[in-house]
Amino acid sequence: MTSLTVTDTIITQARLEGRLLLSEVESKNLLVAEGISVTDAQLARDAAEAVSVAESLGYPVVMKIISPDIAHKSDVGGVVVGLTDSDEVKSGYDEMMRKISSVAATAKIEGVSIQSMAKPGIEVIVGATTDPQFGPVMMFGLGGVFVEVLKDVSFRVVPLEPRDAKQMVREIDALPILEGVRGQEGADLQALESLLLSVSELIERRPEIAELDLNPVFAYSDGAIAVDARIVLHSQDGV
Ligand code: ADP
Ligand code: MG
Repeated sequence: MTSLTVTDTIITQARLEGRLLLSEVESKNLLVAEGISVTDAQLARDAAEAVSVAESLGYPVVMKIISPDIAHKSDVGGVVVGLTDSDEVKSGYDEMMRKISSVAATAKIEGVSIQSMAKPGIEVIVGATTDPQFGPVMMFGLGGVFVEVLKDVSFRVVPLEPRDAKQMVREIDALPILEGVRGQEGADLQALESLLLSVSELIERRPEIAELDLNPVFAYSDGAIAVDARIVLHSQDGV
């Protein structure tokens, strides 16, 4: 199957179901097909399926709730990291369903995603949105308080040139953290630049995409990988 076909299928399926929001699993499948580095996530509809996916991936794994009604999974107890065997996956599943049925009782639950646990890195955010005036715009910043409290982010209009990506990564105030401080390992800035360029190219190629969030991306001294992904499509009359 070519990468175009996977992307077409995912977009068509969502539209057939009248949805603009792609699930984490759909978003990541699309991104994998488009050559963007993510922790590959598979949908499991019950505890037994979750165990069999985990066994095939190898441990440790991460489990996340898959629901069109839940945008911030960890806020409702919908993310569990570091599950190390089948018993933990099974009890993790039951526990998650229990918690979510009390915190988000009306949410439609499709199951969970199971994915490999990535080694810790510096958490950054890569995003794309559609600005009413400028059209598609890319965003970059560090994760956590840097983006939420300090609004320390850089923006550029799509399409990005290599020089834009270089500047985006380097113009945030938190750059010293990416470069490595106090003996902490720095991030592979080139890997972040090429991730920004790949997302920009994807947005250019697929005008159906209205929003794309990789939040967070784990940046390493060698490479970077997105551990969470969310894609929103334009409504059909919008394109
Ligand atoms: P949400 O943003 O919906 O709350 P995330 O998928 O971003 O949920 O998960 C919350 C946090 O869990 C992330 O910020 C990250 O620190 C951690 N995490 C998520 N997926 C993985 C993974 N595959 N490997 C390691 N850590 C992960
Ligand atoms: Mg997230």
